[in-house]
Amino acid sequence: MKRVYVQEVAVRDGFQIEPRFVPTAEKIALVDALSCTGLAKIEVTSFVSAKSVPNLRDAEEVMRGITRRPGVLYTALVPNLRGAERAVAAGVDELNLVMSASESHNRANLNRSTAQSLEGFAAILKGVGGAQAGVNGSISCSFGCPFEGDVPEERVLGFAEAYLDLGVRGLTLADTTGMAHPRQVALLTEKVKRRFPQAELTLHFHNTRGMGLANVLAALDAGGDRFDASLGGLGGCPFAPGATGNICTEDLVHMLAAMGYETGVDLDELLAVARRLPAIVGHEVPGQVAKAGKITDLHRLPEGIR
Ligand code: ZN
Repeated sequence: MKRVYVQEVAVRDGFQIEPRFVPTAEKIALVDALSCTGLAKIEVTSFVSAKSVPNLRDAEEVMRGITRRPGVLYTALVPNLRGAERAVAAGVDELNLVMSASESHNRANLNRSTAQSLEGFAAILKGVGGAQAGVNGSISCSFGCPFEGDVPEERVLGFAEAYLDLGVRGLTLADTTGMAHPRQVALLTEKVKRRFPQAELTLHFHNTRGMGLANVLAALDAGGDRFDASLGGLGGCPFAPGATGNICTEDLVHMLAAMGYETGVDLDELLAVARRLPAIVGHEVPGQVAKAGKITDLHRLPEGIR
């Protein structure tokens, strides 16, 4: 049975754009509950400025407040050297750097050019990269940009190489605004796997246009085995017009379990945590299995039917 690694991003990718601030204690309790489900990695928060993402202004408190469970890797997004220093001081296991494959999205999201982003990463890896934390390099808009449209594969591969030259351990190809389709995902996943076999590759899909789990299947067939997903399907990007919803963690785990993949995740425990989510965020969430039940949850035949 093939092993697939499921990585949770709701507390970062989801909570950053929620209309209301999720209290620090609730974030900590949620991360702790998720830690017990068997997930491989949890993106706990983002060390950005409180001004740009007020919902994650409690990054240090959350990081220090959680109970770490052996076997779970705790990662955090960092936009610059200052954020990286804060993240290392708070004890994260992994720094997740982010830039966009598209020049305009990089400017809109990070207020700098892609070249400036790469310069900043060099400073981070020199400054704190050699410390205890591992480093992952994320490429937003790897499958399309909401401002520019198609993003050439060679551009994505070029940034992947630049990251690896700087010394990152892992790469994430992110479909930030849900523009990827399965055929494209298969082609790019296979190319990255072939060209950079040493990199730990993560695929990060959003379900903005309903192609999220289809993209997972395409990536699996092309050799991908690590996926970011968000409890309840929360998520989006504050600077990507119309972007909503990462692929849903419990729906992903449910599908993989049905197909016989080994994820290490206890689906019933995960569903129990997912069912607490609407009360935490104060609204319905897109996840489907938490509402419909598992395919193995059978129903009684109605009275009178033989
Ligand atoms: Zn995302």
